[in-house]
Amino acid sequence: MKIDYSLELINITKKFDNQNVVENLNLSILPGKVTCLLGPSGCGKSTTLRIAAGLETQDSGIIKINGNLISEPNVSHLPPEKRNIGFMFQDFALFPHLTVKKNIEFGITKNKNETFNNFSADKLLKKVGLDRFQQKYPHTLSGGEQQRVALARAISSIPMVMLMDEPFSGLDKRLRDEIRDETIEILRNEGVAVLIVTHEPEEAMNMADNIALMRDGKIIQQGAPYNIYNKPIDKNVASFFSDINTLHSKVKDGRTETPFGPFITPGFKEGSNVEIIIRPQHLKIDFDRNGKGPSPTIQDGVPARGKVSFSRFIGKESIIELIMERDGSKLKASIPGVFLPDAETPLWLSMRRDRCFVFLK
Ligand code: ADP
Ligand code: MG
Repeated sequence: MKIDYSLELINITKKFDNQNVVENLNLSILPGKVTCLLGPSGCGKSTTLRIAAGLETQDSGIIKINGNLISEPNVSHLPPEKRNIGFMFQDFALFPHLTVKKNIEFGITKNKNETFNNFSADKLLKKVGLDRFQQKYPHTLSGGEQQRVALARAISSIPMVMLMDEPFSGLDKRLRDEIRDETIEILRNEGVAVLIVTHEPEEAMNMADNIALMRDGKIIQQGAPYNIYNKPIDKNVASFFSDINTLHSKVKDGRTETPFGPFITPGFKEGSNVEIIIRPQHLKIDFDRNGKGPSPTIQDGVPARGKVSFSRFIGKESIIELIMERDGSKLKASIPGVFLPDAETPLWLSMRRDRCFVFLK
């Protein structure tokens, strides 16, 4: 019978050279869900994954699988091969003396007793687009091809918990999207609890049910992609997911003045410096009609005039940078499709107030 497995990391701390690399980290990975550990390079993602796998031991904190304690420092430590965890790490070591097909068959045989679903090596190689390489040896393949073999091996037998460290990072974008979606679908359908490390926000948003955002060894925010994107806890989190515009202001009489009219800022101390953050896609552009723009509205506040400094088409959308008339500040707006006004063209901007974030500076 198939059992749903979960993995819990509770209050994990790990030091290297007396420095906390992971600090009081709490994370639950649920069956059938994909959790992405997302953060900049060096923040402790791989270390966290290695601790979960049992390849590294935490200094404090405990790990549970399916509610059972499997690791506690100085008490007990279940070795990696007994954890029923599948992994694929950044340094995806393939056996150099085995052909591509044999490498995958090794994965299948090794895990035979623990699996609920085996794919044949042929089928797996087709999935990752490498069926014609069956008899080749790893060193004759490119880095991206080797990575696909490692991926095929990782999913050759489905474990209950799957840990993957940047598994799609070396692949070209088109191929990456395809392989990622297929892999995730297989793992989700099998009810595997999946933890994937990535440093790419867009990738995390594409595949995660739950994103755990990491900075300096700590998880600073956790939730569904939609929630983190729309309710970032600070400016750094906001800017991790997209370009942002920052307006600087000061709280006076419970509000703060901006080129887009006053903002009510309850909860901020009188006199405090605040930053109002808005993403480029939430600025609205309007044409100049003899020095006039759109009328002020409650939703968008007062429009403000600026002049185009540059515009650029970047594929799905166009980016327009404006220098604002009022204070010379620069703001970037993006709109879908092609819109490429000349430099110096006067335009009006207004700002979706429900899409702004206000943070203390
Ligand atoms: P990430 O995967 O987020 O890029 P890592 O977990 O690999 O980050 O590393 C986090 C920090 O811990 C880095 O500063 C790295 O240099 C350090 N580190 C990782 N492994 C070791 C180790 N075995 N010994 C000493 N320092 C390490
Ligand atoms: Mg890493």
